[in-house]
Amino acid sequence: MPKKLTRTQAAEIFRRLRQANPAPKTELQYKNPFTLLVAVVLSAQATDAGVNKATPALFKVADTPAKMAALGEEKLGNYVKTIGLWRNKTKNIIALSKLLVEKFGGEVPQTREELESLPGVGRKSANVVLNVCFGQPSIAVDTHIFRVSNRTGLAPGKTPLEVELGLEKVIPEEYLRHAHHWLILHGRYTCLARAPKCPQCPIADICLYKDKTPAEPPKKPKKKAAKKPARKLAMTPKLKAARPKRKGARA
Ligand code: SF4
Repeated sequence: MPKKLTRTQAAEIFRRLRQANPAPKTELQYKNPFTLLVAVVLSAQATDAGVNKATPALFKVADTPAKMAALGEEKLGNYVKTIGLWRNKTKNIIALSKLLVEKFGGEVPQTREELESLPGVGRKSANVVLNVCFGQPSIAVDTHIFRVSNRTGLAPGKTPLEVELGLEKVIPEEYLRHAHHWLILHGRYTCLARAPKCPQCPIADICLYKDKTPAEPPKKPKKKAAKKPARKLAMTPKLKAARPKRKGARA
């Protein structure tokens, strides 16, 4: 069995994913490129839902690099304490905000190299910002995309970078812009890590994963329990005495 899907099979996968969700979007809440960058930094090893709980209040008071730098580490920490690794993330966000003000005129840069030069921003985060804010066909390989790409055979690889380059090769250009979100959403809601929902998966016939979750056998209709005959009570002397006496019955 081939371990890797062909470009034609990849095209069919994305045709179906696009049909189900023509314009997929990030689930992170943001107001502008800067707030997306902050949300992405906060989302490392945390869930989007957890980040979204904390950021609306934060972005009300600090939605530009200058305001964030002025807020300072301590106050920023109060907004994001519920998010894992918040101390380190807080340091990075204040440092990158200062750098954006000093070096980039308060704007989020639009190249991967410049984005990666910011504290706390790696290739994956840079790719998210490039894709979501600047419409570039970049693919940020997170845990979901890594799993889906390996299981399906779309772009098997041992490292996120290997998977990213494999995806760029196999995905037809027309799907590249949104491939990132289609794959994340597929991994988050269908191709789950522990129990993938293969029986409901729209690409199951193409996917090469050999340990697919089997469909549940149809449930057998329950047999109707036969009615038990009412149990006759043994006539103990006590019951006999308690029985109402019939009229005319002999004592
Ligand atoms: S068939 Fe199963 S393993 Fe393959 S992509 Fe769908 S959910 Fe994932």
